[in-house]
Amino acid sequence: MDKFPCKYLGLQLSIWQLTRAEWQPIVDNVLNFLPGWQRGLITRAGRLVLVHDVVMARPTHHLLVADAPKWAVECVNKRCRAFFWEGTEQIHGGQCLVSWQKVCRPKELGGLGIMDLKRHGLALRLRWEWLRRTDPSKPWHGLPMTCNPQVQIAFNSLVHWRLGSGDKVLFWKDRWIDGASIDDIAPDIKKLIRTQTANKRLVKDGLLNHRWASDITGELSTDGLIQLIRLWEIMLNTQLNPNQQDEAIWPWNERGVYTSASAYKMLFMGAIKAAFACWIWKCWAPLPIKIFMWLALQYRVWTSDRRLRHGLQEQASSCFLCAQEEDNIDHIMTQCAYSKQVWFTTFSRSRIDTLLIPDGNNTLETWWGATRKHIHKTYRRAFDSLVSLVCWSIWKQRNNRVFRDNSNWMSATELVTKIFEELHLWTLAGGKGVSVWCE
Ligand SMILES: [Zn+2]
Repeated sequence: MDKFPCKYLGLQLSIWQLTRAEWQPIVDNVLNFLPGWQRGLITRAGRLVLVHDVVMARPTHHLLVADAPKWAVECVNKRCRAFFWEGTEQIHGGQCLVSWQKVCRPKELGGLGIMDLKRHGLALRLRWEWLRRTDPSKPWHGLPMTCNPQVQIAFNSLVHWRLGSGDKVLFWKDRWIDGASIDDIAPDIKKLIRTQTANKRLVKDGLLNHRWASDITGELSTDGLIQLIRLWEIMLNTQLNPNQQDEAIWPWNERGVYTSASAYKMLFMGAIKAAFACWIWKCWAPLPIKIFMWLALQYRVWTSDRRLRHGLQEQASSCFLCAQEEDNIDHIMTQCAYSKQVWFTTFSRSRIDTLLIPDGNNTLETWWGATRKHIHKTYRRAFDSLVSLVCWSIWKQRNNRVFRDNSNWMSATELVTKIFEELHLWTLAGGKGVSVWCE
């Protein structure tokens, strides 16, 4: 047998923490999958797919066993970030339109769904702790194992217990009182328990002759006293069932059993849902348009108000389409006279109530959110596709006026003709639902 660390099934096996020199090849191996000289030829949408599918999927099996050091995770993140935004190896903050942290959120939480490596690793390593506590049939069961404190905390906060004989459940740490832990009910008491005791005391032993009370060391505050009385009451009403096994419950999916996907999701607990996510990502628009809409709804496209804020121009430009108001995303998409004509013509051709076109007082997000509710559920996805296409077309037209000569400029009517040609192509490419607007 080789000396440790050695390679086994492609993994670096070691009985101690891997060193930097041992991690480096793993990091390089991931980064090698980013294309070299031809990287500039790939569009942002293509780069998103690449980062998402290839690069982020590769570290997975290593993260499953080892807790990657911070520098390694950062190194991979940095390179992926530069590659995604600019197709380069390095990037400075100003070139990233949205923070990487946000990019790495699930789509429904406003991100692009790229794997968050830290959370992903934690979710995967939670599996060992789950198996250790719930599956005695594993051959390694009973061997002394160290558990990373973060995994331990995640396990204790996510897993609930249904009490049976009480010989598997930790009295001071696990969530065994109707999904709550002692820390939830009596935080001041929990503070007075030695870590060593807390790591060992089982519910079965704790309840025997109220032994748990003798685990408490030190002075009780007034709050602590009240909490103690509460605990006492709870313990008096707790019944063990010696004929039944304690049962771990994973409350975060329907089957009640740990899965890494549900764990990963739970590690984003507290993040706010982005309503627009389901409008953008579920529609039939091609990925580049979806990414554009994702940026536009967060005001992260380079309109002149944004360029002004970043010191890239001296004063705001007026709208390139109507020359009336300031060039910003809400004006361009919903308030501009040119755009309103595009919306009006598009809606009347699609037989959508033309009263629903933007009235000029709304932001793109509030108008879209309110209007799609007037569309019958069956057609909502098709409607979201249409909105995305119209916004994208208006944006392209705006850019033509900024960067190209007037042979590329189109009247609102010409633009609508183009929109319907494009829509027809989407139908042919499989977006069957959008055909409802084409007839
Ligand atoms: Zn305008």
